[in-house]
Amino acid sequence: MNGLREWLAANVPVPRLPSVDTPDGQARHREWERTLFDAGWAVVTWPAEYGGRDASLRDWLTFEEEYWAADAPIRVGQNGLFLLAPTLFAHGTQEQRDRILPRMARADDVWAQAWSEPEAGSDLAAIRSTATPVGGGWLLNGQKTWSSRAAFADMAFGLFRSDPAAERHRGLTYLMFDLRAPGVTVRPIPQLNGEPGFAEIFLDDVFVPDADVIGTPGDGWKVAMSTASHERGLSLRSPGRFLATADRLLRLWHRYEEPSLRDRVVDAWIGAQAYNLHTQSTVDRLMAGGSLGAESSAGKVFWSELDLRLHETALELLGGEGDARWEDGYLFALAGPIYAGTNEVQRNVIAERLLGLPR
Ligand SMILES: Cc1cc2nc3c(=O)[nH]c(=O)nc-3n(C[C@H](O)[C@H](O)[C@H](O)COP(=O)(O)OP(=O)(O)OC[C@H]3O[C@@H](n4cnc5c(N)ncnc54)[C@H](O)[C@@H]3O)c2cc1C
Repeated sequence: MNGLREWLAANVPVPRLPSVDTPDGQARHREWERTLFDAGWAVVTWPAEYGGRDASLRDWLTFEEEYWAADAPIRVGQNGLFLLAPTLFAHGTQEQRDRILPRMARADDVWAQAWSEPEAGSDLAAIRSTATPVGGGWLLNGQKTWSSRAAFADMAFGLFRSDPAAERHRGLTYLMFDLRAPGVTVRPIPQLNGEPGFAEIFLDDVFVPDADVIGTPGDGWKVAMSTASHERGLSLRSPGRFLATADRLLRLWHRYEEPSLRDRVVDAWIGAQAYNLHTQSTVDRLMAGGSLGAESSAGKVFWSELDLRLHETALELLGGEGDARWEDGYLFALAGPIYAGTNEVQRNVIAERLLGLPR
């Protein structure tokens, strides 16, 4: 990671970019991704042939820590970079990687995750959107919802029922599709702050070629679980993000020095350090050939609750004083226990698979 700190100090946009969930903010965040890419910092863990640096997981943690400490913009391409890319490295074809990854790395294509449906969230295997085989490809029909960034994204990856007669977890196919293809309607959903952070996606006979199936048709559940392990696991929420928030909280504390909140500030700050140390030891284990299984559920519960504690404590320190950054951060932290699989569902996994408790 030689030179990273200096590069960030010289290049991170000041003032901070407008929200990524606005048209101007979206364009400015894409521009930032191109700047990162041109300097070789967009996808450090990827192979050099796709613009990466072949960085180890340990170096990636360092990258993340420096990135967030420098107050750099959130990654507009995160669904692609942190969820689809690892899935393509594990299950995609060479042709798919060559076609998709370079455009993703430069944010020429921003990707959305189209999994959830109105009647299928926690119970993902209940999805009803269909993929029907036709000559040379598939026709997609149905409705997806809560698709982050889909209001502005170019492409999406999703799970579809391709064999209605099969058992729930079988007969599912993992496909990629163009959000601007004929038959796709994207309807933005405003969040609490009024910005369209999500969208519903309606699919009406949308043609997708065979080349856009990831893995084997009918075997999409396995591919989806591979994506989910990245979502809950290391890649989506690295400790660097929380270490930076904890440092901002500490600076806020020094402004007010409110004694009744001292222990909570210390507790939240220690939580961020603990998550960092725990992640470092997980990475050591992974680099020695270990794997990340159900314990990623414990990590997900920990970081999402930590993020809430950090923001709640900051808002209490601020009292009635308005601070848009902490307030927006708090609203987003409220969603942490819901996305990437709700914390109730993660607790089921912890109970059954880690602790061996009965269902
Ligand atoms: C900020 C944010 C971003 C998101 N981004 C995306 C995205 O990009 N793409 C996408 O596809 N989806 C996305 N989602 C959707 C998210 O994956 C779902 O909201 C989540 O999986 C929960 O599903 P649901 O909303 O249908 O709630 P439900 O599954 O209906 O759950 C409702 C409540 O019941 C509880 N519950 C359900 N089943 C159990 C159980 N077995 N045991 C105990 N409690 C249970 C849940 O914990 C929850 O409290 C996002 C959500 C949020 C909040």
